[in-house]
Amino acid sequence: MVADLQAELDGIIAAQNDDPPDDEHDVEGSSVGFERARVTALLESATANLVALDAASERIGAGTFGRCEVCGAAVGEERLSAMPATRRCIVCARASTAESGRGPLHG
Ligand SMILES: [Zn+2]
Repeated sequence: MVADLQAELDGIIAAQNDDPPDDEHDVEGSSVGFERARVTALLESATANLVALDAASERIGAGTFGRCEVCGAAVGEERLSAMPATRRCIVCARASTAESGRGPLHG
């Protein structure tokens, strides 16, 4: 998944370098830019998921998977199935989001 996206992004960047967008007729240029941004975002998200899932599998090994890392409460099956890599229960996740006001990938 990550390798596929990386290859796709490399292809888009290569295509952009071979054929730079025309400033006056940038319809194609902006769509390539959009595509590049889309794949970059997918790649970042896939990489982040991979890292998080890696950490999740460590927690499974340690027996702490499914427990909130902050308060120790059960994270909940619904939340885990939606976000298998989550480390916090909904209460702590919300508290943390309210505190920082920013996503983890934008700091
Ligand atoms: Zn919690």
